[in-house]
Amino acid sequence: MKKYATVDPTSGIVVQEFDTMTDSEVAASLKRSYKAYQSWHAKDLAERCALLQRIADLHRQHSIDLAKLMALEMGKPISQARTEVELSAAIFEYYATSGEQLLADEELDIAGAGRALVRTAPIGPLLGVMPWNFPYYQAARFIAPNLLLGNTILLKHASNCPQQALRIEDIIRAAGAPDGVYQNIFATSGQVADLIASPELQGVSLTGSEKAGSAIGALAGQHLKKCVLELGGSDPFLVLPSADVDKAAAAAAAGRFGNAGQACTSSKRLIVDSANWDSFLDAFLAKAAEWQIGDPMSEDTRLGPMSSAQARAELAEQVDDAVAKGATVHLGGYIPEGRGSFYPATVLSGVTPDMRAYREELFGPVAVLHRVNSVDEAIALANDSPYGLGSAVFTNDDKQAAYVTDRLEVGMVGINTTIKSAPDLPFGGVKSSGIGRELGKYGLNEFANKKLVRTI
Ligand code: NAP
Repeated sequence: MKKYATVDPTSGIVVQEFDTMTDSEVAASLKRSYKAYQSWHAKDLAERCALLQRIADLHRQHSIDLAKLMALEMGKPISQARTEVELSAAIFEYYATSGEQLLADEELDIAGAGRALVRTAPIGPLLGVMPWNFPYYQAARFIAPNLLLGNTILLKHASNCPQQALRIEDIIRAAGAPDGVYQNIFATSGQVADLIASPELQGVSLTGSEKAGSAIGALAGQHLKKCVLELGGSDPFLVLPSADVDKAAAAAAAGRFGNAGQACTSSKRLIVDSANWDSFLDAFLAKAAEWQIGDPMSEDTRLGPMSSAQARAELAEQVDDAVAKGATVHLGGYIPEGRGSFYPATVLSGVTPDMRAYREELFGPVAVLHRVNSVDEAIALANDSPYGLGSAVFTNDDKQAAYVTDRLEVGMVGINTTIKSAPDLPFGGVKSSGIGRELGKYGLNEFANKKLVRTI
């Protein structure tokens, strides 16, 4: 099989394969990107905003086709796939409509004579390396702010979503992007390394695993390139004594089983105060049982297959390791018979530090419940993770919410909600969850030259 291929995860059948580019094709793409940058960044801001609005419109116009491709290539249930396409459209629209305000010069209040302002300027051609789990949304978070700024983009998408990668390129071209402003590249890891080493390339953004993040981060450091890394997570979900247990259980199930649990901000560790343990366990199991596996093309399906047979095998190994070492399985926990990389909604408790499931990211529909006896114990357990991406804190006690918020080692805290991405909310983490932020004005500033203009 070639490196870039559509493999239907409901059957394992290889649907279509694509050649990787040659080294000289990749080098030519970078040259085209560099050339396009010279004129793209000099265009009127209004022109760049108009392009983004047309890209948003085309996402909406082709929503059903785009969603079907997602269901085909990575197994997302069609209704969740449509929601993702709409979020991607909203991201392009946000930067289109807020561009002028976001890029306005910032006048500094200075001690010296004269004036000083900071202008937000582009830096040049960028490389995006993107994952398959939210194929349009992850790409939109990188593409939209950078096209607005005037940067140009080469995008290497995950090797299991090549048709979606090409559709993104088609849409941006159809919206009227000048030649070279946005290019999809079917590149190898070696070619990615060559691009990062090239003097024309000014930055790289990777969303993916820690392994890929440390490889890309090392290359960026070696070649002094700006980088943003959006990596894994094992988000804690705290159910504190005053929580509304039913509300928490519904949010935890949606937060854990949506996208078949394959989200960086899935609610992977449910940390429940003993005062609520029994009631939460009952309510959560009832909600989890609603997530039945089915055909991702069907409107009623909530839990599709995992993205690949390999991803499922890895998850099953993590669960089996926990069970062999004494964890309790309340629901699921087995590989179902039949074709496709399906894995059922699974609920575990009694997971201890000697088990892989305690510290590793479980990138599939497996919830781990931990019982604690105090708020401080909940915080300590939440922070006992190499990751620090999102979190959720369910409590009706405002003081407790503030106390916990200040102590969680994460990039995002949801109070009585899980983290739901929106175009104007910054997204990102600390610790091994990465470096930098996407979305909102924060995302726009990552690959910007904050140029000081001093006038006396
Ligand atoms: P992955 O294996 O790291 O792949 C992500 C992308 O990186 C793919 O395009 C992949 O290409 C590429 N890649 C991997 N190693 C590379 C290397 N050495 N050089 C150049 N490119 C390389 O991750 P994944 O399994 O697809 O995605 C799941 C991970 O992403 C999870 O850990 C999840 O939590 C994380 N994630 C984080 C966020 C966030 O915002 N923090 C959002 C979504 C997902 P190939 O496909 O060709 O191998």
